[in-house]
Amino acid sequence: MRDPRRRLYYRMKRRLLNLLTAVSLLLGVGTVALWGLSVWRRDVLSRHTSGHSWLMSNQPAGLYLAVSTTDDPQPPEPWQWATAPANGPSNDTLARFPSVAGIRAGQFHSGGARGRTYKGSMGRSVVSATTRFVRVPHWFLLTACLPLPVVAVWLRRRRRLRTSAGLCWRCGYDLRATPGRCPECGTAATVSTTA
Ligand SMILES: [Zn+2]
Repeated sequence: MRDPRRRLYYRMKRRLLNLLTAVSLLLGVGTVALWGLSVWRRDVLSRHTSGHSWLMSNQPAGLYLAVSTTDDPQPPEPWQWATAPANGPSNDTLARFPSVAGIRAGQFHSGGARGRTYKGSMGRSVVSATTRFVRVPHWFLLTACLPLPVVAVWLRRRRRLRTSAGLCWRCGYDLRATPGRCPECGTAATVSTTA
């Protein structure tokens, strides 16, 4: 009675773990790509509503998430993407958003903290804009993405080594005297090796 339920539980757990591992791997690869890209380009994804600007940016120092509040009335704009050379002067595309002026270019590079607030003036008119941002360094994201795939590779390798050595893949007990089922943990020996 309890056995099928238990098996279902283990199967669900394994599927969830596999899914998380795959997502982790995907995020890790994405992070490496963004990290590499940040050497060449500075990318900004932004959206404006009246009074607020929302911004995501890939910079050499990491990924930035920012919200800017301004008293400068500006027409709402949908999400849009702007890009500039990583080490060049900040171009017009980036500069035309007064409310994100405080976190442009140089301050992006020097601003290391999270949740820091800037007030800045931009262009001809003085604009009061308060920007709060969070910076997540690429190495931090990568470190967070690594453990699951590494453990998955290690487990798979251990399973293969144990199986080929005639040991129980789950607990490592010597199965040469009792092929078929492990007397130690009850695992059927190498019936379905798909993980
Ligand atoms: Zn065993």
